[in-house]
Amino acid sequence: MAHDFDLFVVGAGSGGVRAARIAAGHGARVAVAEEYRYGGTCVIRGCVPKKLLVYASRFRDDFEDATGFGWSATDAVFDWPSLIAAKDKEIARLEAAYQGTLQRAGVTMFSDRAELVSPNEVRLKQAGKTVSAGKILIATGGTPSLGEPIPGLEHVISSNEAFHLKALPRRIVIYGGGYIAVEFAGIFAGLGSEVTIVYRSEKILRGFDEDLRDGLTQALQQRGIRIVTDARITAVERTGEGLTATLSQGESLAADQVMFAIGRVPNVEGIGLGDLGVERGWNGHVVVDEFSRSSVENIFAVGDVTDRANLTPVAIREGHAFADTEFGNNRWCADHALIPTAVFSTPEVGTVGHPEHLARERNEKIDIYKTRFRPMRNVLAGRDERTMMKLIVCGDSGKILGCHVLGPDAAEIVQMAAVAIRLGATKADFDSTMALHPSAGEELLTLREKWIDPS
Ligand code: NDP
Repeated sequence: MAHDFDLFVVGAGSGGVRAARIAAGHGARVAVAEEYRYGGTCVIRGCVPKKLLVYASRFRDDFEDATGFGWSATDAVFDWPSLIAAKDKEIARLEAAYQGTLQRAGVTMFSDRAELVSPNEVRLKQAGKTVSAGKILIATGGTPSLGEPIPGLEHVISSNEAFHLKALPRRIVIYGGGYIAVEFAGIFAGLGSEVTIVYRSEKILRGFDEDLRDGLTQALQQRGIRIVTDARITAVERTGEGLTATLSQGESLAADQVMFAIGRVPNVEGIGLGDLGVERGWNGHVVVDEFSRSSVENIFAVGDVTDRANLTPVAIREGHAFADTEFGNNRWCADHALIPTAVFSTPEVGTVGHPEHLARERNEKIDIYKTRFRPMRNVLAGRDERTMMKLIVCGDSGKILGCHVLGPDAAEIVQMAAVAIRLGATKADFDSTMALHPSAGEELLTLREKWIDPS
């Protein structure tokens, strides 16, 4: 039986759009449905708007540091609505660009919610019609989790709402100790809010290298961010103009906004997977194999909805591999090893490869090289913040197993280091690479002394 389309993609985020465009390029008849806005989390309410807010927040440092370089003190005033309007304009431009890309590729777009009714059919909710396709790709991404119900949960916001606040909160409590919590802590603190992070365990950024965790904790605290650890928010109450968050250890925190950043869950609610018997994982994610095939023939999934590595470039790669494999006669799958990642806190974290604790678990012998230094700019600026750089090296082969940077431009430095590390670079390769001077990145090439644990 001929289907309406060869491929139906549910969700026009990073993974879905890439898959749709590439499949169409291979000659497939492709349709995509998007219930909200084209571009998905990354473009609409994730990486891109977040980075714009991060840029905005870092002007505080620039204004403060400028006097050390001969500039007269600037009486800078920040206006939240202007920033949000500028950000919204850019997001609208990018959304249009995404739509243009799909249009030029000949992809049929449905601005509608799609729900699966069979392995080859989706129901378009608003249009009230069912269309068929040879293959269906679920690329619905994730959505913020608010955790277990607590009293007053209706008063809290997630990152979704944080991008659209009417006013900059004077005081904000951020719950969580992961990517989103520390990134938004930096944003709000830089823009002038009084920020408190509440985290359930003992140290933020679980899973990252300990030196990054310690260094960032110290830097955030030096920047005036309060971090309350080993605490949970047990209730949120509206009190007059503001909110009060009650913590498990008894303290109450007054705030204008309480933001939960306690993880994201796959966006699968009501899209029909249960009825079709699609296998799901611990948090509801679609279980797939390395070729993004679900347990049901003709149903595939890429990106955050599969909960592999929940990062935009990973979703894009998975979508591309799926399209090439299924429609381009070119079978390959995304490689999930050595994924570089950054946390756009201030200061920034960039990391690729194993953190020290994991490297120790997996290798008999490792060597550690690390340095902490005051970046050149900070000296005249009178800023005490240090950069930390660390290489983890296999004691036998000399291969670099991990590279971790905390400080300005960490993401840019680590992105390039990731190329070398992927190619199997050794410490000797780094040593013999000519340094680029004066730069921060050169410090990674001039680490001479193995670090000996003083304990
Ligand atoms: P993360 O998984 O990074 O962090 C979640 C945090 O919430 C952790 O500190 C976790 O604690 C805590 N937590 C989890 N469940 C609960 C709970 N029930 N009660 C209290 N605290 C809880 O999630 P985020 O929401 O920050 O971000 C989601 C994902 O999005 C990231 O993991 C990442 O994949 C992606 N992302 C990537 C970015 C980037 O590349 N720069 C930026 C933003 C998001 P614990 O550590 O104890 O588990």
